[in-house]
Amino acid sequence: MPEILVRNADVLVTMDGTRREIAGGDLLMRDGVIVAVGQGLTTSGMVVEARGCVVTPGLVNTHHHLYQTLTRVVPGGQDALLFGWLKTLYPIWARFGPEEMFVSARIGLAELALSGCTLTSDHLYLYPNGARLDDTIAAAHEVGLRFHPTRGAMSIGERAGGLPPDSLVEREAAILEDSIRVVDAFHDPREGAMVRVGLAPCSPFSVSRDLMREAAVLARDKGVMLHTHLAENDEDIAYSLAQFGCRPGQYAEDLGWTGPDVWHAHCVKLDGDEIGLFARSATGVAHCPCSNCRLGSGIAPVRAMRDAGVKVGLGVDGSASNDAGNLVAEARQALLLQRVARGADAMSAREALEIATLGGAKVLGRGDCGSLEPGKRADLAIWDMRGIEAAGAWDPVAALMLCGPTRVRDLFVEGRQVVRDGQMATLDLPRAIEQQNRLARRLAGL
Ligand SMILES: [Zn+2]
Repeated sequence: MPEILVRNADVLVTMDGTRREIAGGDLLMRDGVIVAVGQGLTTSGMVVEARGCVVTPGLVNTHHHLYQTLTRVVPGGQDALLFGWLKTLYPIWARFGPEEMFVSARIGLAELALSGCTLTSDHLYLYPNGARLDDTIAAAHEVGLRFHPTRGAMSIGERAGGLPPDSLVEREAAILEDSIRVVDAFHDPREGAMVRVGLAPCSPFSVSRDLMREAAVLARDKGVMLHTHLAENDEDIAYSLAQFGCRPGQYAEDLGWTGPDVWHAHCVKLDGDEIGLFARSATGVAHCPCSNCRLGSGIAPVRAMRDAGVKVGLGVDGSASNDAGNLVAEARQALLLQRVARGADAMSAREALEIATLGGAKVLGRGDCGSLEPGKRADLAIWDMRGIEAAGAWDPVAALMLCGPTRVRDLFVEGRQVVRDGQMATLDLPRAIEQQNRLARRLAGL
């Protein structure tokens, strides 16, 4: 791959150890890796002019359910609480198959890319009608994002006292067998990996205690990460106390679900002891502020988590509970929500940007991503600050969080251009949108 030089950025935000911001900054990349950052760099290769732009590390999304882009704003689920919302959507999701998984993931991934995301995880926990994790991995390959799909699962259906219909749950032996298959087929532990697989039973209320424990044992055996939903809202805490006789943090710890190789989505209701547990054990959190607002779950104690040293990344969450998948907008929401709870000095724009980049990379165990430094992977977003959103702004870096834009000009992943001049460079997006809408109409029975 030829060298690419990004030149003359108004500000290049490195997120390095000293959080250096370089005015008139350049960045040189070669073979998917950052070779140099600084001023006055030269190349005989390709040049990308970045005057008028802020360059940041690519944003990292730590929680999503990509398939849900096909069930945005479903009428019966628009105003329901979490458990009622799930019961509205389960029968629709039960009609999905491989085509729905691929097409919806492609849309979700392109939406993330256009909002500055270079690395995303996904949590796919239902596999109806022959759908496989492979379908979403194929979509990520086409779009060109770095991808951490997780093999989710549900095993306790309605008949066994669970929430999902019996048609959407799997046998636990089959779940573990397919988990081994996808890890062996797709997981790449090497630096610069484009695909890393994780294991992710859906939530403590949709799988058994045995499956949680066995998934943890299997993940450690295979050297992959663990992910699930935890302590999302008051109903969740009440369920945990009633069914398990303890709070979610205790439940997670008892089953081996804490550690540097584990990250939990939401954690809105973690108490002080649980925050201490997460900090001590280096367990990560995927903070999903828009989803928490949308479902009325509450405000996650992100300020307290960060102060205690808990790793926190951002997640847009599934598109049935956001329903947007714009990651830079999610960072703004994270900032605003902490201020609702704790006042205007609760979170700065630069801290929100750090959580959205470096923070997410740490949560996903990617020491090779999340900052713009020599030796790190060439994952970066170029934001044009000359548009109307930031016109009149005095501080372009803070403007990215507090004003906009909400769409990147250019995006590079592993040195490959995924977005060019605000358009997908890897994909015929209008055609992909048309396919998506056709499938949505079919699911709606229209
Ligand atoms: Zn979720």
